[in-house]
Amino acid sequence: MKPITLLTGLCVIAMAVFSGLLALDNSPPPHKKNKDSNKVSVERTKEEWKKILSPEQFRILREAGTERPNGKIYLEFKEQGAGTYYCAGCNTELFSSKEKFDSHCGWPSFYDPSKAKNIKTSTDYHLGYARTEVLCASCGGHLGHVFKGEGFDTPTDKRYCINGTVLKFVPLTNIQSGKLSREKGEK
Ligand SMILES: [Zn+2]
Repeated sequence: MKPITLLTGLCVIAMAVFSGLLALDNSPPPHKKNKDSNKVSVERTKEEWKKILSPEQFRILREAGTERPNGKIYLEFKEQGAGTYYCAGCNTELFSSKEKFDSHCGWPSFYDPSKAKNIKTSTDYHLGYARTEVLCASCGGHLGHVFKGEGFDTPTDKRYCINGTVLKFVPLTNIQSGKLSREKGEK
């Protein structure tokens, strides 16, 4: 009888521990946990990035560099009309002309990303104080920084201060004609 009693006892303890664990685990199911928030879907080696990016794009995207303010890229940016801005590293849509505004800071400025899920942020202390770094969520490339509460007359009062060198601009006319030709091709 004794071994059976011991076994039953052990079973009761095991069940109690198990149900206790179940009761404690109020967290969301594993697939909803955000533990992979730092995971990027586009991964390449340093050498692979160097093959597809210009040296300046590599320095900014992969080494958190910053382009010279008021440079040629910025002047071109100011001239650009309606369209969409994609990541130069992985072609993910990041910003659009709808959220573009002139902050007079010398770098392309947007008050919001066009697709929030395509952007992620982190805190950096490269200048000795906290700044919010803006990264492409798909390839983890450094895009620039975001500043809040500067008093800009925009819907968010945020300034996404982005390096134009790492943005690929596609004018709306190109997007529309591309879409049309695709639709025609499908028919
Ligand atoms: Zn990217």
